[in-house]
Amino acid sequence: MRLKTENLEKVFRTELVETVALNDVSIEVNDGEFVAVMGPSGCGKSTLLNILGLLDNPTNGKYQIDDVEVAHLKEKERTQYRRGKIGFVFQSFNLIDEMTVEENIGLPLTYLKYSAKERKRLVDEVMMSLNIAHRAKHFPNQLSGGQQQRVAIARAVVTKPGLILADEPTGNLDSKNGRDVMTCLGELNKMGTTIVMVTHSQKDAQYANRIINLFDGLVVDSLKDRM
Ligand code: ADP
Ligand code: MG
Repeated sequence: MRLKTENLEKVFRTELVETVALNDVSIEVNDGEFVAVMGPSGCGKSTLLNILGLLDNPTNGKYQIDDVEVAHLKEKERTQYRRGKIGFVFQSFNLIDEMTVEENIGLPLTYLKYSAKERKRLVDEVMMSLNIAHRAKHFPNQLSGGQQQRVAIARAVVTKPGLILADEPTGNLDSKNGRDVMTCLGELNKMGTTIVMVTHSQKDAQYANRIINLFDGLVVDSLKDRM
C-alpha cells in the first residue's frame, strides 16, 4: 500500500491546554517499503501512526492511501476502511486474556464475517508460519512476551493486510524475543507487506529500508535512505 501525507497537523485540545502533537508532517511511504519512525518521547510518533492507521483524524492536512483521500472520513467509515486492510501491532500486545491464542488471532476474521471453516483455515495457516501452532489452545498469560507478540502479529496479518503499523513492537521484550519479533516483521515485509514501525531502538531500525525522524511534531530528516 502507498501512503502519502501532506501538511498533517494534529492538535489535542482540553479545557485547559492545547497540545500540538503534529505540526506539519508530509511523508510518503512506497508500496512494499519498511519505514521506521524515530524520535524522542512525546514528539508525535504514536499520534502519526494512529492517523496513518485511521484510528484518528488529523486536525488539518491531507492523507491519501493508494491515492484515495482518507483524512476526514467519519469514524464509522474509517473502521470499515481499515478492517482487513491494515494490521496493528502495539507494545502492549493488546490480546484478550479470556480468549485462546486461536480465538484471539481469528477475531479480525469474525468482524469480517468469515465462515468458521474459512476462519480455521486462515488461523491455522498463520499460526504455522509464525511458529505458534503448538500454543493454539493456550491463553495469553500462559505465554512468554515474545510468544504473545507473535500472536499479536498473527492477529494483525491473518486478513493479509497490505499495511502493518507497529508501535514500539519490541518495547516490552528482552533482546532475544525482540529479535524474533523483528525477524517476523522482516519476513512479512519481504513477502510484500508495507510496514511503518515506531521504535526507540537503533537495532530494530536496521530492519527498515528507511528512517523518518520526528522532533516536536515535525519531520527533521527522512533522507537516511539505506536501500
Ligand atoms: P510519542 O509516541 O512520540 O511518544 P505521542 O504521539 O503519544 O508521542 O504524543 C505527542 C504529544 O501529544 C504529547 O505531548 C502527548 O502528551 C500529546 N497527546 C497524545 N495523545 C493525546 C491525547 N489523546 N490528548 C491530549 N494530548 C495527547
Ligand atoms: Mg508513543
